Amino acid sequence: MANKSIILLPMLLLVSVVAMCLSEAAIVSEPSSDKGFQRALSSLADGRNKQAERIASEVVESAGENAWRAWLIVATARHRLDRYAQADEAYKQFLSLCRSPSERAYVMEQINRCRLAREKSVRPVVVSKLLSARKRAKLSTVDNRKFTESSEHFVVRSHNSELAKLIVKHAEIALGRICRTILAGQDYPHSVNIYVWPTVAQYRKHAVSAPEWSGGGFSLRQDKNGRLVRSINLTQLGKDGLFDADMLDRILPHEMCHLVLAEFFGDAPCPLALNEGLAMMAEASVDNSRVMLAGTALLGDSKITLRKLLMTERCNAGNAAVFYAKSFSLTAYLHKRMTPGQFREMLTHIKTGCPLEEAVQRALYVPVDETFLKRLSTAWEAETLRQWQFLSALEE
Ligand SMILES: [Zn+2]
Repeated sequence: MANKSIILLPMLLLVSVVAMCLSEAAIVSEPSSDKGFQRALSSLADGRNKQAERIASEVVESAGENAWRAWLIVATARHRLDRYAQADEAYKQFLSLCRSPSERAYVMEQINRCRLAREKSVRPVVVSKLLSARKRAKLSTVDNRKFTESSEHFVVRSHNSELAKLIVKHAEIALGRICRTILAGQDYPHSVNIYVWPTVAQYRKHAVSAPEWSGGGFSLRQDKNGRLVRSINLTQLGKDGLFDADMLDRILPHEMCHLVLAEFFGDAPCPLALNEGLAMMAEASVDNSRVMLAGTALLGDSKITLRKLLMTERCNAGNAAVFYAKSFSLTAYLHKRMTPGQFREMLTHIKTGCPLEEAVQRALYVPVDETFLKRLSTAWEAETLRQWQFLSALEE
């Protein structure tokens, strides 16, 4: 969540910059937009950031270039709301029209702060490593009543108030990472309900579409008014009756990634291997046992060819472990070898119905060639073996 202190110091400077702006705005703007500017400014001063953003955006829209200084109010409100990418856009709009060296220096500094905050917000956090025994015990308690915590993208309901706070924070961090990896930095302008059920039995009772074996799942459905309702269901306690930290480290980001992908791909056929591979990449840390298994499977009897992997539409208990390991290995390989723009372009081609190998070739701007899948397979298998050898050497 927000580091509110980033705003305290520049606030005085901002007020003086905006005050300077006001005298000029009164000259260059229409009276109605000037009134709007004043209202937006006082909303900002009162900490009503969403209102300030809305009014200032209206001023920008209605008065056009004359009201360009309102961009600074829009940017500051977004910055305070931790919407760094959108704040960055608004700061740049202001900067493109501002000629004052001191104002430009101030705004450049804010752009830099947005960048740093954004980088920090998308860094994976392995929550289980940060929890003390005391904190875990607290997170294992189940209160009779439900607590609700909200953020920009999430409404979390849990029978443990501490847990609701922790989830809302880490859900935003995970979403930031997913948006950077999958949506190439785009925003996700939606709200997601997260329900935390105390036990697996309660989870299964409420998350009706969830697979038997799962402890978490997502759903994307239309309500009776045709609006899309986005939900993630989670389980608070493990089999031992204690808080299951895996829910924060793996299940929450994994299911969230599936939810984002379900909406991104819509009805387009995305290979299950890619879908699961991306969801595993969204998890807070790399599971080395998957990397090892992808290598040992190549050397043993349980090898799955790339063609077969891409054609797999469901897996069973017998082949699930190898399928997941190979899916992660393939997706991570493609992600590492392509630039973020190329990766995003590959996903966009898949969305339009291209098979994965064709989508990769198009994203790389190479002529579509029938031998490509074979060459991709050879290169990926060689990399899988290299990683397996590396990890094996570390274990010796
Ligand atoms: Zn999955």
